[in-house]
Amino acid sequence: MKELRFDGRVVVITGAGAGLGKTYALLFASKGAKVVVNDLGGGRHGEGKSSKAADDVVAEIKRNGGIAVADYNSVVEGEKIIKTALDNFGRIDVLVNNAGILRDKSFPRISNLDWDLIQDVHLKGSFKTTQTAFTLFKKQGYGRIIMTTSTSGLYGNFGQANYSAAKLGLVGLSNTIAIEGAKYNIHCNCITPTAASRLTEDIIPPDIFNELKPEFIAPVVAYLCHESCEENGSIIESGAGWAGKCHLIRSNGALLRSNMADAVTIEKVQENWSKITNMENAQHFNKSSEATMFLVSALESIREGT
Ligand code: NAD
Repeated sequence: MKELRFDGRVVVITGAGAGLGKTYALLFASKGAKVVVNDLGGGRHGEGKSSKAADDVVAEIKRNGGIAVADYNSVVEGEKIIKTALDNFGRIDVLVNNAGILRDKSFPRISNLDWDLIQDVHLKGSFKTTQTAFTLFKKQGYGRIIMTTSTSGLYGNFGQANYSAAKLGLVGLSNTIAIEGAKYNIHCNCITPTAASRLTEDIIPPDIFNELKPEFIAPVVAYLCHESCEENGSIIESGAGWAGKCHLIRSNGALLRSNMADAVTIEKVQENWSKITNMENAQHFNKSSEATMFLVSALESIREGT
């Protein structure tokens, strides 16, 4: 099998001073990429900052014979991170939005600060960094983007309402960037990782924590960012040496009126509820216009009933 490499590519990874991001940085650098190791170097809840986390990873990459530069900006000022890539390497080919923090509280206890900080780092940070990169990708007709979502966003998790909202927001962001970028060979996909890190040390049960190495996920992210990978607009879940694709599906539903003169009533909704929620033969749509087309055909059926 031909080795997949990143020679000549410039890869920016946010939050690459620890955990998953660090593992991505080490892998990309070992495969020939020039890497921008961004990390604010703060605490798990978004407090403080330090240059040490990013510096240590850059030093490790250099010791291994790779090329890397550190960046200490917060992703909220994402344009500065992309500038670091341009100033040092003259271009950017891949952006992995990975930086993250937690402010876990049960829903009624979430303060405005807990809400805002989480939306800022995950959602606004990915927006700022990606928007700057996207403009450059568009000009060069090439780019690969990763958004980092979470099972907490896709499926929900007690105590993580703020985080879940931001993480599912990233899926929406990714879906539309994938559509807008496709004609410029810009691909945007989401990774849903499960790995041992300081973010998960008190969430993942101790008996499996040590088995969930970030190194099992890094190759999945790297493949999604390779020029040979055609995947775009997808959500890939991965952990423990497993990966799978995940997407939203919608039932075929039920017509709630049989002709144009018919009214939709609460009782008709009740009567049809099992059909509305029957997920047999459920469908996936790749863009919102496909869902609209489905509604147009439903309307046609109602018209034909007149
Ligand atoms: P981690 O805490 O080990 O790494 C996150 C890094 O992001 C830290 O080094 C931190 O300093 C950095 N960071 C935080 N805020 C930043 C900011 N404003 N600007 C720049 N850097 C910043 O955690 P991890 O588990 O490796 O998480 C990486 C990503 O994966 C996060 O987005 C997290 O939400 C997501 N995630 C992780 C898991 C998991 O199982 N570990 C599951 C789902 C999602």
